[in-house]
Amino acid sequence: MTLRIYDTAARKKRVFEPQDPKRITMYVCGPTVYNHAHIGNARPPVVFDVLRRVLMAKYGERAVVYARNITDIEDKIIAASLASGEPIAAITKKYADIYNSDVQALNVIPPSIEPWATGHVPEMIEMIEKLVRKKYAYVGETGVWFSVPSMPDYGRLSGRKPEDNEAGARVAVDEDKKDPADFALWKFAKPGEPEDAIWESPWGRGRPGWHIECSAMAAKHLGRTIDIHGGGVDLTFPHHENEIAQSECAHGEELARYWMHNGFLDMGGEKMSKSLGNIVTVHDLLKAWPGEVLRFALLTAHYRAQLDWTEDLLKQAKTTLDRIYGALRRVWEAEGGEARDTGVLRALEDDLGTPDALAELSRLATEANTAADVKDATGMANARANLLAAGKLLGLLTKTPKEWEQGGDTDENARIDALVQARIDARAAKDWAEADRIRKALAEEGIEIMDGPAGSTWRRI
Ligand SMILES: [Zn+2]
Repeated sequence: MTLRIYDTAARKKRVFEPQDPKRITMYVCGPTVYNHAHIGNARPPVVFDVLRRVLMAKYGERAVVYARNITDIEDKIIAASLASGEPIAAITKKYADIYNSDVQALNVIPPSIEPWATGHVPEMIEMIEKLVRKKYAYVGETGVWFSVPSMPDYGRLSGRKPEDNEAGARVAVDEDKKDPADFALWKFAKPGEPEDAIWESPWGRGRPGWHIECSAMAAKHLGRTIDIHGGGVDLTFPHHENEIAQSECAHGEELARYWMHNGFLDMGGEKMSKSLGNIVTVHDLLKAWPGEVLRFALLTAHYRAQLDWTEDLLKQAKTTLDRIYGALRRVWEAEGGEARDTGVLRALEDDLGTPDALAELSRLATEANTAADVKDATGMANARANLLAAGKLLGLLTKTPKEWEQGGDTDENARIDALVQARIDARAAKDWAEADRIRKALAEEGIEIMDGPAGSTWRRI
């Protein structure tokens, strides 16, 4: 089946046709690293990780080149450095490391390329020079500006008009601009700004604007025209619109052939934003929940829909995963099965239909249980293969059932294993009182013993 994705620019689903099936290029805007990422920031890496997995399944593991940048120079980072006295590089390294380990805990495959903005300032300057030379940009008193009226079809991605730039109260109307919609390509350094936030340029010392970072890094690592550009829906305007303006006016070529945007996360009825103070960081959530539960929860809604983020959603995700891992445990020993073409890939090929794909995953768990009930060896082996293949596409079921059910503390697990064995011994010696005592003691610790034909195993509940 063909892959169809909703293209924000076309405002409809389109069949995906790569420029080169051997080298499919994806660029997803990454984090600005100065604090912990909130769970809303984790939605794009997870959603586009599923897309990447689908592309890998269809075109080959090595066919997808995926770039996700790190924005390590920006006003908020400078403010954080001034407030704490820490060098910018120390702040950005710390939070980029945390971000990467947090999203990896959500089973996100690391990007093929992770360009850092400060490592690409010469490329940004070169691009700005080109725009100035071609008269798409001009030098002002406070910076170098992109002239929005110079681009006749500015706004075609979002359908918004240049005037909307000024309508937004947050965009200060700067005397220095020729047109209120113009945006900064280069910002001259202001007095009091730290030296590590300043670079030399042909127009004066300063730093790049945020939008030019992505344009320059995408062109350098993926080429002038990329296959898929992704990000959160809030980036459509102005960030992606401005990326298009810069890249297409500089290169005379289309920036991206498909544009994909994920919807917001909703925290109890209000849009999640820093000003509302209802932030839940990925870092804190990972202390309370397995990463796979967070990932499952993020995939329960279609990526373009708003997702209501609640405690109940997480509990439900955990219960469903427990059930699926429980089924996987029952067929775990049945190796050598063959995965068939399940509905999981078909659902994902229709614009990443993750709700249907997760429903199909649950159905595969039921198949596994049915095969295990009737001890159908071939059925069990195939069910195992199907579950693992579906899990690979979704980035789920990456643990063994034992790891999932028992957790990771090996010393603690060895102690419980010994108690479970002592109970088996007590039962063998017909010491029912002792066997019962051990079962109750473990139950008080939240450990459930599961007796089955293959012996006794246990899980944390
Ligand atoms: Zn970007």
